[in-house]
Amino acid sequence: MSFDVAIVGAGIAGASLAAELAGQMSVLLIEAEDQPGYHSTGRSNAFWHPTYGGPHIEPLTTASGTWLKQPPVGFPHTSFLAQRDAITIGRADQLHLIEGFERRFAKNNLVLQRVSGDDLVQRVPGLGGDWSHGILETNCFDIDVASFHAACLAVAKRKGAVIAMRARLTEAQRLNGRWALASETQNFEAAIVVNAAGAWSNNIARLCGARDIAVTPYRRTLTQVRLKKPVSPHLPFIIGIDGSFYFRPEGSDRVWLSPHDETLSPPCDAAPEETDVAIAIDRFQRVVDWPVAAVEHSWAGLRSFAPDRLPVYGFDPDCIDFFWCAGQGGFGIQTAPAAAKLCAALIARTEPDPMVAGIDVKVYAPTRFA
Ligand SMILES: Cc1cc2nc3c(=O)[nH]c(=O)nc-3n(C[C@H](O)[C@H](O)[C@H](O)COP(=O)(O)OP(=O)(O)OC[C@H]3O[C@@H](n4cnc5c(N)ncnc54)[C@H](O)[C@@H]3O)c2cc1C
Repeated sequence: MSFDVAIVGAGIAGASLAAELAGQMSVLLIEAEDQPGYHSTGRSNAFWHPTYGGPHIEPLTTASGTWLKQPPVGFPHTSFLAQRDAITIGRADQLHLIEGFERRFAKNNLVLQRVSGDDLVQRVPGLGGDWSHGILETNCFDIDVASFHAACLAVAKRKGAVIAMRARLTEAQRLNGRWALASETQNFEAAIVVNAAGAWSNNIARLCGARDIAVTPYRRTLTQVRLKKPVSPHLPFIIGIDGSFYFRPEGSDRVWLSPHDETLSPPCDAAPEETDVAIAIDRFQRVVDWPVAAVEHSWAGLRSFAPDRLPVYGFDPDCIDFFWCAGQGGFGIQTAPAAAKLCAALIARTEPDPMVAGIDVKVYAPTRFA
């Protein structure tokens, strides 16, 4: 089978790009696993938070938010988002970090509201007295990741994309100006290969003879605990200013929490370590007086970063017809709609959609590592 574009990896990066490109070009989406969201996409914290990832990620997040709030005609949902505040908290001795945070985002046109004292405790009942400073963001959302991902795959398919599951790419070579691709189950041919393989991005680059950009996977752990006493399911997402924890309610008597770990890992089926779960619970209990009844479920996933922690979108400068859509770190879901539109315009060589026209895609180009 022969295609204009073969996208390797059917996580949210590959699926959203396939939905964007199909119809304009013939698209193949190749996925190694039985289930397309099996790796990072199915293991996220499912949160949309404009300051997460830093000032250079925010434009991608903001543009994507508009799309996720009101997906275009053809998508079966009216919205993939549900409102939830976020508060970044710090102790008195971390005030300089709070101030630094505000300075970092000074040019991003976001509403960051200082909260402290009774106001902070009212917003987070049971908050320990040490936590005296907070930055409130009211424009944040839970993301329905499963529906978003499934909808991208369905739209891609409806527009004619072919999705090959259980088809791990094992060989790629240039033959007569095109890519000859071999997977575990089938062979394909394509004009362009897109590397959307998440933690495996470097493997795909190596397979295709592209440069090593050192997109590096790091493990992050999440655990769901049951509480002894219920809390409001609408309480904010709470994140430590020093990047050592985050948590948010999941219903009225459960919380998702993370020790914000970032442990170097090979690309793999990541699993949580007991120590990281214990650290997550210990840090959580130092923040709020919400006693834990039981650990119900823990999981881990890989967040993959380029050396400068910005994503990599664009054609490789040396390896012909090899396109990078990698390094989405901890923001790959909340930025996917904008990333898909930017990448689709570069691949199809069309003008970018007005939704992303103001975003400088050069910031994310692989040529920055040349
Ligand atoms: C614990 C955790 C919390 C997170 N929280 C958030 C959050 O709140 N908000 C947010 O926006 N982001 C969050 N993220 C980040 C987000 O999950 C990722 O950035 C995003 O899922 C990356 O998507 P992807 O498609 O690039 O990768 P993946 O979902 O990993 O998909 C890559 C796919 O490529 C496939 N593949 C690999 N090699 C091959 C091959 N040779 N042939 C064929 N297929 C191959 C893999 O099987 C995989 O399915 C979180 C991540 C983690 C781990």
